[in-house]
Amino acid sequence: MNPDKYTEERVLSLRSWTPQLLSFRLSRPAGYQFTAGQFARLGLVKTDALAPDDTGQRIVWRAYSIASAPEEGALEFCSVLLPEGEFTTELARLQPGDTVLVERASYGFLTTAGFAPGKDLWMIATGTGLAPFVSIIQERQNWQDFENLVIVHSVREAPELAYRDTILKLAKEPPFGASGAKLRYVPIVTRDTLEGVLHERIPVLAQDGRLEAAAGLALDLARSRILLCGNPAMVKDMRALLGAAGYATSRRLKPGTLAVENYW
Ligand code: NAP
Repeated sequence: MNPDKYTEERVLSLRSWTPQLLSFRLSRPAGYQFTAGQFARLGLVKTDALAPDDTGQRIVWRAYSIASAPEEGALEFCSVLLPEGEFTTELARLQPGDTVLVERASYGFLTTAGFAPGKDLWMIATGTGLAPFVSIIQERQNWQDFENLVIVHSVREAPELAYRDTILKLAKEPPFGASGAKLRYVPIVTRDTLEGVLHERIPVLAQDGRLEAAAGLALDLARSRILLCGNPAMVKDMRALLGAAGYATSRRLKPGTLAVENYW
């Protein structure tokens, strides 16, 4: 790739939620612009026999949603570490001070920008699909535009409920003063038990009303604007369910009520 298209950034810090789940912060490229919910493309230099020339080095690129707020001076990301992953085996070795390449552009449509005005913003995620929503709940504008922000996060086991503390803190002490909006958090753990926490998959809970009951809020086409991110099978099932209830992604000149992103 043309070196004008990316910058070299430094790892500032790392946080392991579990041995397979890592968040990391990078220095932010000068002038880097993004909207909460978008993703960056990150590159790691790999030294192996697949390199195209005699340097022995090649760059492996992956897309990662940005978990930090647009106003922050650093960029934060969250990743599953796959044992055979071409990118994540390198990621697992990173230490503070190491170099990560960041493409100058930001990407994606999992933002509130294409939505018709609404009252309740539902952010429904599995696994690391939570990351873009961590950015969205830290953005002032979303607390002004919506009365309720709802985060639904489904993981296999309790320790994978990343950012639980951040979300609970924002729910308890809403930021940005008197915006009046409320953050509601619905954690779901499917292969573990955690007191007071739901255990079934999201589409099941959405169909039988338990998702709305846990959020303390009804899904209502006139009020609800929905973002889906994570396991492609969850996104597909929820898209079908919500589509049948009238929710639709935005089209040219027609604002939407739904935006989706498959995570892999
Ligand atoms: P996951 O398997 O998608 O599990 C996360 C949550 O999603 C769990 O609560 C799971 O419930 C639920 N889920 C799975 N399929 C669903 C469906 N069809 N409908 C509704 N909910 C569903 O993801 P993970 O635990 O974060 O990661 C596990 C594996 O996912 C990784 O080893 C990797 O293969 C893949 N992954 C890949 C990437 C990538 O970028 N390549 C990123 C993340 C994950 P159950 O416990 O009932 O399955």
